[in-house]
Amino acid sequence: MLESNLPTPCFLIDRNRLKENLTILDGIRKRVGCKLLFSQKAFSCYPFYSMIARYLDGTSAAGEYEAQLSHLYFHGENHVCAAAYRPEEIETLCGICDHIVFNSPTQLRRFGGQAQAAGCMVGLRVNPEIPLQQCSDYDPCAPFSRLGTTVAQFPKAERKMITGLHVHALYEQNADALEQLAEAVIQKFGPLLPELQWINLGGGHALTRPEYDVDRLERCCRNLQETYGLTVYLEPGEAIAWRAGYFITTVLDMVENRIPIAIVDASAVCHTPDVTELGYYPPLQNAGEPGEAAYTVRIAGRSCLPEDIFGDYSFDHPLQIGERLVFADMAINTITKAVMYTGMPLPSVAVREPDGSCQVLHSFSFSDYKNRM
Ligand SMILES: *Cc1c(COP(=O)(O)O)cnc(C)c1O
Repeated sequence: MLESNLPTPCFLIDRNRLKENLTILDGIRKRVGCKLLFSQKAFSCYPFYSMIARYLDGTSAAGEYEAQLSHLYFHGENHVCAAAYRPEEIETLCGICDHIVFNSPTQLRRFGGQAQAAGCMVGLRVNPEIPLQQCSDYDPCAPFSRLGTTVAQFPKAERKMITGLHVHALYEQNADALEQLAEAVIQKFGPLLPELQWINLGGGHALTRPEYDVDRLERCCRNLQETYGLTVYLEPGEAIAWRAGYFITTVLDMVENRIPIAIVDASAVCHTPDVTELGYYPPLQNAGEPGEAAYTVRIAGRSCLPEDIFGDYSFDHPLQIGERLVFADMAINTITKAVMYTGMPLPSVAVREPDGSCQVLHSFSFSDYKNRM
């Protein structure tokens, strides 16, 4: 079907864009000699897993469900890393995962033997205690963080069980931050490294952006590979689907209260929570920032929530009821984060194929809402 015939609201994944990102990532892993895992939480859209698997080495899961998706649809290395596991989960994870990363010495003590007996590589997440992010609310190295074991807490008795270290402390960052991270890990955990087989440097690497410094990444990875004999893993998530999706909505009403306000058939709170919670301002096709073009309009959701606002944009014409608005860079943290609060229907999920044709992969109904209660 044509894009203009897709039902709205609709998340549209662009297969070509995804492929462009994956081609860059494949080139990076070949050049750098590292292994790349797809961190699923930003975009666990399994209909694309077989395609992603052609370019990457495996996946990283935040828990049992993502690990199961990977096991069923990705067929690569299956890594899992969670702040804590339930005993019932460990059994399942041992059967389907290659690497199980524990967050604390207690979890390692409790489940490490079981994971090892099942043939899994046992890892420990460490906290290098250097804040590398701008916002401490989201920084796993910030004071009081529960994520990762500090050097002071590093377990002695269970050390032999550990085959590798996991560290995740970046967000949308370049290789200079990675270098600082690697240096901190070496400084704190260096004496352990020669006994280990692998190191996982987490996600938050903006690998698919043109300004990413691959030379510096390569130097950083080669140092770990050559000095310590480690297999280096990176597990980017957002980089895989960066700019690979759109969110298509239709204007349902135009109201006015000092400014013109367009009410669309979607909800920013429910469908694009990064917009309302993190202040993300997505690009909107054929529109500019407020005041750039003649008609500035606030784009708002149709829920009862006052904060349900996508943002202010300007257009070269007055917006009309029935017009479609296409937000770009909307593949990440949208489909995986969308909720049905206020009974808001979920958007459909569609794909645009390289020939331009579009197809709805999944749509939702009242029963999806009802069945959650
Ligand atoms: C979220 C997360 C990632 C992926 O981060 P991106 O910013 O999507 O690249 C990787 N590892 C862990 C442990 C994470 O929590």
